[in-house]
Amino acid sequence: MATVKGGCLCGSTKYECSSEPVVSAVCHCKDCQKHSGSAFGLYVGVPKNSLTTTGESLKTFEGQGGSGKYFHRTFCGDCGSSLYAAIEAAPDLLFIHAGTLDDATWVQPEVQAWSGNQLPCASINGDVTKFEGNLPSA
Ligand SMILES: [Zn+2]
Ligand SMILES: [Zn+2]
Repeated sequence: MATVKGGCLCGSTKYECSSEPVVSAVCHCKDCQKHSGSAFGLYVGVPKNSLTTTGESLKTFEGQGGSGKYFHRTFCGDCGSSLYAAIEAAPDLLFIHAGTLDDATWVQPEVQAWSGNQLPCASINGDVTKFEGNLPSA
């Protein structure tokens, strides 16, 4: 059983999820590169109402994706760790940045979004279905 539990780098924010993850995904879009500061975003999707967070320093950045739909990206205001994203296209889920999990060794993405924007140095192990743009459900 995967445990969805983690927090930010400075430790002021922690989260825990009461249900199993619904999906694991990689996103190669520029927004995810910018927000994560890395080559791609690695996410674990969980039902929105199953996540409990503790800490006073959470901040949320609201923006508009390429599709014109809104997103909210939540991060620690003290240390800047990217924690999770809510996207209008999948309103019932929160996408946790897998790197913030206490243990992320079990995470195996099932899909890759925006593979057209994949950096040449970034490759994902295994046969992970690619989509040129957004995931079909999004
Ligand atoms: Zn922090
Ligand atoms: Zn993305």
